[in-house]
Amino acid sequence: MRMTELWKGKELAGSIKAEAKKLLSTSNEPPKTLAIILPRGDASAADYASFIAKSGEKIGLPTQSIVVDDAKELFSALTQASADPQVGGIIVQRPYPQDVAEEDLQAKVPEEKDVDGISFTNLGRLFAYHPRYVPATASAMLRLMKHHRLPLKGSRVVIVGRSLAVGRPLWALLLREHATITVCHTRTKDLRAEVSRAEVLCVAAGKAGLITPDMVSSEMVVVDAGYNYLDDGSGPLGDCHPEVGEVAGAYTPVPGGVGPVTTAVLLLHAARAAVGVG
Ligand code: NAP
Repeated sequence: MRMTELWKGKELAGSIKAEAKKLLSTSNEPPKTLAIILPRGDASAADYASFIAKSGEKIGLPTQSIVVDDAKELFSALTQASADPQVGGIIVQRPYPQDVAEEDLQAKVPEEKDVDGISFTNLGRLFAYHPRYVPATASAMLRLMKHHRLPLKGSRVVIVGRSLAVGRPLWALLLREHATITVCHTRTKDLRAEVSRAEVLCVAAGKAGLITPDMVSSEMVVVDAGYNYLDDGSGPLGDCHPEVGEVAGAYTPVPGGVGPVTTAVLLLHAARAAVGVG
């Protein structure tokens, strides 16, 4: 008998997208465009850009994709989009061309158009507890926890992963909720021991199956941001072994958990930027 509560993201994603659509339809001004800058030749980046474009169309958000080959083209596109008054938001999709220094990008994306929250300014605002645009996956993970009314104040939370895209912003968001947080990474001495102490386990490591069923308990809530494809093309797979979804008290399935909420959050941010209320 299945005991795990599956936290699917569809319903929450739907309500976030409805909020974005309402924002766009009730604005007096025509919405500004979301510029999506993406690398040439990366099939998953192209798929994701077209998915965002189609999802944007459904809610009344105009989008424009700009394909770039290298750092020169990327920064030229970024400069143009930053200066263009018809562009409301900008996403620069990974993987970045090899010659792009990430810190240059973080310094140059303007705060008010940075709907993915990658800029130094928006990250600084988040860590100072005055968030504007927060990285979408971290925001989606917190939204899922709140949607399911998970008490966070004082809770023992373990985050596996400390990237600037997910782990670290999630740490800042959860600290603001008064959780007591341990952040694990590749130098953590005993991942199993750290994980087993969690009441809430958040995983964003990019390693399929890293968290095994014996590391979790039926009292644990497990939020899995992992979205991994294996070399043989199989996937997407979470950072948790699929059987974690049968052992934990609650689990966000992959696919269908954090992913749809992340896309919806990104669209909401883009909608805010499009009507100038971000
Ligand atoms: P990333 O930049 O590669 O960072 C991975 C983090 O995990 C690093 O901090 C790394 O530690 C840590 N880590 C890796 N292997 C580990 C291990 N064996 N033990 C402990 N820690 C380990 O990845 P990311 O961009 O944060 O993405 C993480 C996952 O989330 C990926 O599967 C990605 O596809 C997924 N993702 C999903 C969404 C979504 O919408 N669902 C959006 C974005 C990302 P070090 O810092 O020590 O290297």
